[in-house]
Amino acid sequence: MSVEHMRTWTIGEVEVTRIVEVNDHVDPLAFLLEGGSRELMKQYDWLFPHFSTPEGDLKISFQCFVVKTPKRRIMVDTCIGNDRWREHAIFNDMQTSFLEDLQHAGFPPETIDTVLCTHLHFDHVGWNTRKVAGKWVPTFPNARYLLGRREWDHWKEVPRDGGVHSQHLVDAIQPVLDAGLADFIEADRQVCEEINLMPTPGHTPGHVSVHIRSQGQEAIITGDMMHHPIQIARPLMPANFCMDKTQACTTRKEFVDRFGGSKALIIGSHFCDPTAGWIEREQDHWRFRICG
Ligand SMILES: [Zn+2]
Repeated sequence: MSVEHMRTWTIGEVEVTRIVEVNDHVDPLAFLLEGGSRELMKQYDWLFPHFSTPEGDLKISFQCFVVKTPKRRIMVDTCIGNDRWREHAIFNDMQTSFLEDLQHAGFPPETIDTVLCTHLHFDHVGWNTRKVAGKWVPTFPNARYLLGRREWDHWKEVPRDGGVHSQHLVDAIQPVLDAGLADFIEADRQVCEEINLMPTPGHTPGHVSVHIRSQGQEAIITGDMMHHPIQIARPLMPANFCMDKTQACTTRKEFVDRFGGSKALIIGSHFCDPTAGWIEREQDHWRFRICG
């Protein structure tokens, strides 16, 4: 994408910068949510215009976040990546300016000290590596890559036979393991003074969200615990891409109940611009109140 899609939020002494790879992708509703429909979307007029088209189709973006603390530079997820073979045509052999965008935002890859993947789906790990002279090499040579132990316990058993959703293990995970840059961590890990992981299982077995606290302010980067703001209003509606849909619904409901009505800034990993906001009451349901 380009520089105009960049956005930064400040949480006390921490800065979170968004790098967008695919902006405002319109998804046929049924693809993401079980039982979703245009009529359902239109029940929530606050979804327009940022998160839904006028016709009621759902919009999502693919993006990641650089979290800068006084001492650390942490990539939270790494999007899809260039030059990949992927099942879905729109993700196949992408050629974006992601690395240039990262550089322009002030984060050359060699300055990143930590890469944190909320989970190991292909759209969260891609830029872990890049292709150099026909070979996949780690994009962030000076970083430790934090991978969930429980998450990896699942993915290490997935056959790497080129079948559905396994190719990223070959081109975006294995080269990091081979380079000795991976650390396997627990889902409630404290990453640094300001950042704790929150276990948010269901979408995948070891999924985590990222809880940032500094100087009395707080924010959460959701990962795929939720994909779209409608799930704040309807946390118990199952999402098609969740591996354990029942667990994912429970996790989402607990999250909305915990942070609803608070001033915690919710930064949605797939939420379109403006991406961040608060969970507020609207008559009989919770809604997403955008920030900025
Ligand atoms: Zn995702």
